[in-house]
Parts: sequence; structure tokens; C-alpha cells
Amino acid sequence: MQITDHTKTIIEAEGISFSYGDDEVLKDISLEVHKGDYLGIIGPNGAGKTTFLKILLGLLKPASGKVRLFGQDISEFKDWWRIGYVPQKATNFDANFPSTVEETVLMGRYSRKGLFRRLSKEDIQFTEQALKQVEMLEYKDRLIGELSGGQQQRVFIARALAGQPEVIFLDEPTTGIDEKSQQEFYALLRKLNRELGLTLVLVSHDIEMVTKEVMHIACIDHTLVCHTSPEEYLKESESISIAGQKVKIMEHHHRH
Ligand code: ADP
Repeated sequence: MQITDHTKTIIEAEGISFSYGDDEVLKDISLEVHKGDYLGIIGPNGAGKTTFLKILLGLLKPASGKVRLFGQDISEFKDWWRIGYVPQKATNFDANFPSTVEETVLMGRYSRKGLFRRLSKEDIQFTEQALKQVEMLEYKDRLIGELSGGQQQRVFIARALAGQPEVIFLDEPTTGIDEKSQQEFYALLRKLNRELGLTLVLVSHDIEMVTKEVMHIACIDHTLVCHTSPEEYLKESESISIAGQKVKIMEHHHRH
């Protein structure tokens, strides 16, 4: 078991607002993620969750507000290898996709080394280690398109892990994956968080699963509706349900 300094802030978003044209998608969102955290970001479709992740990753620039990564303003941040990203619908391969599992995971090393460096023995070692961590080493020579959705998802986690990041962002990682593979996938994330001390930020609308797995919940519906523990979140939505009120928190709860 890894000893992790949970007091260290690694991601800070302060007063983030963002619009696509005239359409304001995010309004004044402030959030911190500490080292070793496992944060679930929940909220209905179209609520701005993916947009928020993209802002944290520097892929979109907020209209206002600040992002600091590992204590540095995002405009000065260069150590992008410290952050892994598994985007939405990463697993959409047809069976003829020409890369093998090993080649796909090796791509994760470029975040560490830059795109035009030669890959070394060390890269192969880290690639194999990452495949071992997700229990996919025996599939390394298989074509990625031949695998099931759940297996592909493990390979994408391995690709993120191969760059040895300190935090991984995952956007709806279990979409289109069968129930059993989903359970195994969450068990894998739990292991990476608890045993390796890896910080995880998971976007999902599967509230039932997320509340069982994560340490903190952030509900985003254009604004930050709540930021709390899963226990508090469930208690709150229950009491609201008893009161018979229909508020935003409960709208999330009914959406699957
Ligand atoms: P979520 O991840 O919560 O489903 P998104 O961040 O993907 O929400 O989208 C938030 C809103 O912004 C949605 O209404 C979506 O249609 C809109 N949107 C997303 N991406 C774009 C884009 N590139 N251009 C214009 N509108 C967009």
C-alpha cells in the first residue's frame, strides 16, 4: 500500500466559465483535486463535464478563471506526461485496425519522451509493466480491433499508465462495456488508486457505480451543484427524495 500525501493539491480550477459561441456551458466552477484522490464528476448529458475536463487538460481555454496544475499556472505548465487522459469513446475500433496492443501502449511513451525520439528498451519495459498492471500482457501481439470493448478499455488505461502519470482523467470509460467487464474495470481503477496512489478523475453518469467507488463527488450541471463525499451525496439525495422535491441532484440520480 502506497503512502500518499492527500494534502497536496495537484489540480486547482478557480472560477471557470466557458461558452461555445453564445452558449454558456460552464459558469464559475471552482474545484480542487488532491494527490491520491479519486474524484467522480457526475451530471446529466450536456452538462459540461467533458468541456470541464478539456479545460483542465489545456485543450480548451476558459473565458474566465484560472487553472493550476501541480502548483503551476496552466499557461506555463509543460510536464504533460504527469497527466494521463483516456478520452470518451476511445474504444471504437473496427477489427481491421492495424495496431497491435503493444504498439498502442507504446504510444503512451511519447508523452514522456516527445514525438520524434527513438523508443528504447526502457520504453518496452514500461509498456510491458503497464500491460501487466491491467492484466493484458498476454494479449500484446493481438490486434487492438480484435479485442472486446472491456479489453480495449484496459489497453487504453495501459497506454495512459505507460507514460507514468501521476493523475489519470477518464471520460465515461465504461460506455458500451458489458456489466462484468465494468465491474472488473472499476476493480482495476480501485487497485491503481489504492495501491499505486494514482490520482483519478472519472467523468460518468453512472451514479450508482460511481458513488460506490470514488472518494469525492462533484456534480456539474453547468455550475458546480455539489462537491461532497459519496455518503453525503446519497444521504442528501435520499432526504430530498423523501421530501418529494425534484431538484437537480435527483435528476442525475434518475438518469442512467
Ligand atoms: P457532458 O460531457 O456533460 O455531456 P459536454 O461538455 O460534452 O457535456 O457538452 C456541454 C454542452 O456543450 C452540450 O450542450 C454540447 O452540445 C455543447 N458542445 C460540446 N462540444 C461542443 C462544440 N465543440 N461546439 C459547440 N457546442 C459544443
